[in-house]
Amino acid sequence: MSKRETIYNQLTDLAFQESIPFCYLCYKKAPTGRCDNCGSDDLMRLMEGVGCEYDTDWVIEHILKEHLEPVNQAESFESMIEGCYPTETKVGWLELSTADILKTMDEVSWDIAKDEYISSLEEDEEVMSFDNGSTYYWAHDIENLIEEKLEKEAS
Ligand SMILES: [Zn+2]
Repeated sequence: MSKRETIYNQLTDLAFQESIPFCYLCYKKAPTGRCDNCGSDDLMRLMEGVGCEYDTDWVIEHILKEHLEPVNQAESFESMIEGCYPTETKVGWLELSTADILKTMDEVSWDIAKDEYISSLEEDEEVMSFDNGSTYYWAHDIENLIEEKLEKEAS
């Protein structure tokens, strides 16, 4: 199992922990996992004040959004660039920020390189997205959150 799969499974556990089973037919909570009115176990997940839907992926998205700061892609790419090249570059008599020059001179190639950098972080499982790439989170942030949240329930 990949690290991402492990984390996804743990997030699913967390999503079950943080939401309540809900019978849409009877429009009532079913905390035991079976509706005590109609007996159905085909239940939605309810997060009070947030929403009520089938499945847990939306719960995962909400938990991550609520507790974690998404990866600032521009900022982390720029600091990687600063680690790879001299911070300043001399152009004529000016000492200019290398990152600024790259960004200004060819915005398209800057963006392509940034996307490639994020993809490489994703391949290395350092960052992860659970909404098809709209938002990325640092894997270690997610792991810390899981540890904190799932332990709390166990104790
Ligand atoms: Zn019911």
